[in-house]
Amino acid sequence: MAGEPQADCLFCKIIAGEVPATLVRETETTVAFRDINPQAPTHVLVIPRVHHHDAAALAAADPKIAADVLREAGEVAAAEKLDSYRIVFNTGSGAGQTVFHAHAHVLGGRGLQWPPG
Ligand code: 5GP
Repeated sequence: MAGEPQADCLFCKIIAGEVPATLVRETETTVAFRDINPQAPTHVLVIPRVHHHDAAALAAADPKIAADVLREAGEVAAAEKLDSYRIVFNTGSGAGQTVFHAHAHVLGGRGLQWPPG
């Protein structure tokens, strides 16, 4: 069921402590940890503790927790002392989403090009 932990979801396993991750911040509703394959000097993933397929599904089901994810992305950027950074929600495999548990990428610490590839 939407929102419930999924046995086959990598990020649900990280939340449960079943898969190790380098945690950066935790709140009642979110977990932030370093990406295993960083694309910038700072590359942190912020995820909701509830399981939803992508950011839009999360926002539709629980806008307060979607806002928590965004706020935490900003808190991560501040903690990492980033004055410029990018928050990315890859949505759908064609856009590069590989883990189907909503997550924000927080990227910074280098120049970022626009448009992205
Ligand atoms: P997506 O491609 O779905 O937007 O982002 C998924 C991200 O999860 C990728 O950037 C990938 O490097 C990261 N990732 C995949 N497996 C692991 C893992 O086991 N641990 C951590 N910390 N990150 C992971």
